[in-house]
Amino acid sequence: MDYVKMACLKCGQGNRVPKDKLANAPKCANCGQSLMTDKAMDLTPQVFDKAKNLDDTLLVVDFWAPWCGPCRAMAPEFTKAASTLRGKARLAKVNTEQYQTVSQKLGIRGIPTMIGFRDGKEVFRQSGAMPAAQIEKLVTTHLRKG
Ligand SMILES: [Zn+2]
Repeated sequence: MDYVKMACLKCGQGNRVPKDKLANAPKCANCGQSLMTDKAMDLTPQVFDKAKNLDDTLLVVDFWAPWCGPCRAMAPEFTKAASTLRGKARLAKVNTEQYQTVSQKLGIRGIPTMIGFRDGKEVFRQSGAMPAAQIEKLVTTHLRKG
């Protein structure tokens, strides 16, 4: 059977999910959090690192800060895209004001910046606020084919 690996975006626990169960709201074996959440969850640096290194499903992280107007404007759009893309990609957020070292490590200069990760590698990076439809299009072009 084919499995996908993904870290729980709440507790960081690694989970193996059969591919054909992805659509059935799989839950974390450790804490019960939904693994394919339709909300963009806020990640701590520890959970972000685990998910970035483990996930073989596309993980899209919005690096934002509360003081950034365009970031706040994009937040509901990002949430909308997270819901539309549920089961295909996981969308999450890192607050760069709270966790400055994360953006420093990744060399993020301007926010909002969206970075897509898979298998521990950066798949794409996009700066600037976007409407939901554009986020969905961007993420969809980077989904694994087949
Ligand atoms: Zn968990």
